[in-house]
Amino acid sequence: MTLARSLALLAFLAPTLLAQYGSIADVKLAKPEDGKDQPSTPAPAGAVVLFDGKGLDAWVKTDGKSPAHWKVADGAMEVVKGGGLMTKDKFGGNFKLHVEFRVPYEPQNKGQARANSGVYVQGRYEVQVLDSYGLESKNNDCGAIYEVAAPKVNACKAPTVWQAYDIEFTAPVFKDGKKAEPAKMTVTHNGVKIHEEVSIPVDNTRAGLGGDPATPGPIMLQDHGNPVQYRNVWLLPAK
Ligand code: MG
Repeated sequence: MTLARSLALLAFLAPTLLAQYGSIADVKLAKPEDGKDQPSTPAPAGAVVLFDGKGLDAWVKTDGKSPAHWKVADGAMEVVKGGGLMTKDKFGGNFKLHVEFRVPYEPQNKGQARANSGVYVQGRYEVQVLDSYGLESKNNDCGAIYEVAAPKVNACKAPTVWQAYDIEFTAPVFKDGKKAEPAKMTVTHNGVKIHEEVSIPVDNTRAGLGGDPATPGPIMLQDHGNPVQYRNVWLLPAK
């Protein structure tokens, strides 16, 4: 391809790419770091790598058998309409889950329609993913344990900027078929602790996979119709 042709192609593609993910030039940043990616955290020794940017081998659709259909490009996976994805493996006991994500800039959308996705621990307990930048966070905003607890602070970065969740999960304890201890979560968002040992009084948050809460469950990423991206997903079982 000639240089002129390459430039012409770039000029054609650039607006397409921007249109897809959004320039945040008109977003007022509360502080400069809100516009800078959270540094990526490599998987530590002993972690189960669920997504390393190369492929979706560890994932299937939520029927448990259909191949994962989301897009993988530039080390990230992106929500494609047609359903959420869940890990083939199921996880019980206590563990730490690390997920990096970014949300598209969708100024035309409001509230729950604005770059919604979510990380479901054991397929049951959602830590919300949404563009909640600059809002007073409620229990359905980004970082919320959905309809259970609002984050203590809004630690969101601007849309299109890479963010990170570290979710320390304590599985519920069952004795003689009865729940003796609820599931608990401590969540760190972009290095800020937004939940500390929060008890989850329900066995399934909205749109979760449900199932017997005494049994292990997969990690599920939600399709809510918005092209949210994920990268570097790993899980470290507690010792
Ligand atoms: Mg959601």
